[in-house]
Amino acid sequence: MFAEILTVGDELLTGHTVDSNSAFIGKKLTERGYWVRRKTTVGDDVGEIEGAVREILARKPEVLVISGGLGPTHDDVTMLAVARALDRELVLCRECLEKIKAFYERLYREGYIDDPELNEGRRKMAYLPEGAEPLENSEGAAPGAYIEAGGTKVFVLPGMPREMKAMLEREVLPRLGERKFVQKKFLAEITDESKLAPILTEAVERFKVRIHSSPKGFGKFIGVIIFAESEEVAEKVREFIEGRGVKLEEMKI
Ligand code: ATP
Ligand code: MG
Repeated sequence: MFAEILTVGDELLTGHTVDSNSAFIGKKLTERGYWVRRKTTVGDDVGEIEGAVREILARKPEVLVISGGLGPTHDDVTMLAVARALDRELVLCRECLEKIKAFYERLYREGYIDDPELNEGRRKMAYLPEGAEPLENSEGAAPGAYIEAGGTKVFVLPGMPREMKAMLEREVLPRLGERKFVQKKFLAEITDESKLAPILTEAVERFKVRIHSSPKGFGKFIGVIIFAESEEVAEKVREFIEGRGVKLEEMKI
């Protein structure tokens, strides 16, 4: 089960905004049992986004989560680029248009904006690639999109972290099914990562699991995370490592 992430925005490339969205998405997908194999960032450019989506789909991940560039401004071109990459048209989603209308009417009534009319920019957000299922944005105007494309589940989410997080939790994760694996975190009592490495390599091959290790500076311990398909397998890996003389202390994830 492998997944990829694509984040969109010039500000992510210039360093004005730190790409916290991909970290959040990666964490959630990992918790669901997906192996996030790659993340890509491109600017607000139709050609760049389209090219990146095509390259990612050619690798046939099970899931692709895209974030950023759904807003009303001219540089928000993600939906158009995704439609092009999938060789589909952008089509009006009437239900989305109604929701966008109601969203701006509410902001107007509450005194946040001085014009509730559906101008071009606001209307633009109601266009999704043909065949897409709209994803509800509980925190903002722009809907997201869910598209099945050649065996890949493609999710297009907004860039505003608050909107992206709410949509990921409420609309994306429920469409990804049940979690099928466990993560166990340990502190390994060993001073040198290079001594731990061959033991972990052997464990990875023997038990078909993923293991991350990270040194905690020059101290007594090294952090180890085991990703396994069940508690039993994780336990076997733990026994194997301890059998090689490395004491493991379990930590909270
Ligand atoms: P909007 O309707 O606000 O334009 P959008 O979907 O078009 O939404 P963007 O224009 O890409 O989103 O970004 C909106 C805000 O969210 C910006 O302040 C941007 O810096 C921030 N943002 C975008 N992508 C990320 C990211 N990957 N990590 C953190 N913040 C992000
Ligand atoms: Mg924007």
